[in-house]
Amino acid sequence: MSGRTVSSWHMRIAIVGAGATGLAAAYELLLKGQHVEVFEAALQPGGLAGGFQQPGWSWSLEKFYHHWFATDRDVLRLAEAIGVRQRVIFKRPVTVVYHQGQFYPLDSPQAVLRFPGLGFKDKLQFALATAYLKFVTNNWRALERFTADEWCRRWMGRAAYEVIWQPLLEGKFGELHTQVNMAWLWARFKARTPRLGTFEGGFQAFFDALAEAVCQRGGVIHYGTPVAQVLRDDRGWKVQTAACTSWFDQVLITTSPRLLLRLAPQLPVDYAAALRQLRSLGALVVIFALRHPLSPRGYYWHNLPKSAGFPFLALCEHTNFVEAEHFGGQRLVYCGDYLPPEHPYFTAPDHELVELFAGSLHRFNPQFSKSWISDAWVFREPYAQPVPFVNHSRALPTTRTPLAGLWFASMSHVYPWDRGTNYAVRLGREVAQAMV
Ligand SMILES: Cc1cc2nc3c(=O)[nH]c(=O)nc-3n(C[C@H](O)[C@H](O)[C@H](O)COP(=O)(O)OP(=O)(O)OC[C@H]3O[C@@H](n4cnc5c(N)ncnc54)[C@H](O)[C@@H]3O)c2cc1C
Repeated sequence: MSGRTVSSWHMRIAIVGAGATGLAAAYELLLKGQHVEVFEAALQPGGLAGGFQQPGWSWSLEKFYHHWFATDRDVLRLAEAIGVRQRVIFKRPVTVVYHQGQFYPLDSPQAVLRFPGLGFKDKLQFALATAYLKFVTNNWRALERFTADEWCRRWMGRAAYEVIWQPLLEGKFGELHTQVNMAWLWARFKARTPRLGTFEGGFQAFFDALAEAVCQRGGVIHYGTPVAQVLRDDRGWKVQTAACTSWFDQVLITTSPRLLLRLAPQLPVDYAAALRQLRSLGALVVIFALRHPLSPRGYYWHNLPKSAGFPFLALCEHTNFVEAEHFGGQRLVYCGDYLPPEHPYFTAPDHELVELFAGSLHRFNPQFSKSWISDAWVFREPYAQPVPFVNHSRALPTTRTPLAGLWFASMSHVYPWDRGTNYAVRLGREVAQAMV
């Protein structure tokens, strides 16, 4: 390995991907005095949490809806470390669920008490089970032995489960929803807060600031540079891009498991088989720019049961969270869904999806007319939501691959937590510490 060993002090480290994981790892490795180069296929940092900007907007808009929770300590600590914590803004926008033709807030004990979809006894059982998950147990390893479906039916009560959680699980995981384990649902109860955070200028501005902090500490980021392959030879780890080939002591890959299989063909058969077994869903959003507000009551997040006939799982009126003035007064609405990557939505022309999704907007506001739409964008991502089955922790491939010096850190690894930039930042930091 070019005279160096992987334990020497100043290693040359390549990171594939300038998303939250890759940048957090880069930042940590630079703090530890390593030489770091980040290779990013896109022209900007941020990965899935990145955004775009239109003429007349002073903020960027996330391609996929994003917010932080008040419990997202790792990303908030990183914001503090790079000197931008004062640009994080927390608010309490309203989240609602759809029940028999109406929308109801369900994000506080008072809202649960007012909710007409459950009787008093059902609400009591729901409240006790929720309190147990949120405040009592931390033993997620015991919970991962059960599916969320069986645990909730038993302990939360059939009625509460079927009215509240089953539609959400079904929407998010489709036909796999009865196989998702309870540790995943526990983590959502544990970590989610009604207070939600964003970044002044949008999430893209946060990742721009993080990328700048990486460069200021001597890191190099190659944008528009997709890595084609990483191979170990007698000079070390060879990182190949269309433009150049360079050698490193260690490589951290932060892409999807599928892509890792293509990038690193030398991975042993067992590890490759474990990667192939990881299941995930893709995500698709249509974003509408509207001339008028959509939700008459100013709701931010709408959870929608598939059984109610909506062609998407969630509607999120971004400008009921972030002021429309940052977007030239336009009202921005995401309609999103999680689907298998082979679903027809992933190949349908954009205009067909826009037409299909626009056809449901009157259900949120009877006055809505298509003349309100001033613009629309479609974003798709095949690797967006890992699916954790029973005893998932035993099936997860380790971040340290069997090939010395090759590391892999992805959304699948933040389990039992649901994927999120906070956990990506934590993962990036932890893998960086293990690398040195
Ligand atoms: C619909 C949706 C909603 C979400 N909502 C939230 C939310 O509200 N809050 C929250 O905190 N998180 C949310 N997340 C999760 C969050 O976006 C992810 O957890 C986080 O961005 C993962 O970061 P990452 O660096 O692991 O992966 P990515 O962001 O996927 O980064 C991987 C990077 O690798 C690059 N890359 C890929 N192939 C190559 C190659 N061959 N060579 C070089 N570079 C390559 C990609 O361009 C990308 O930049 C959401 C995700 C989705 C899909």
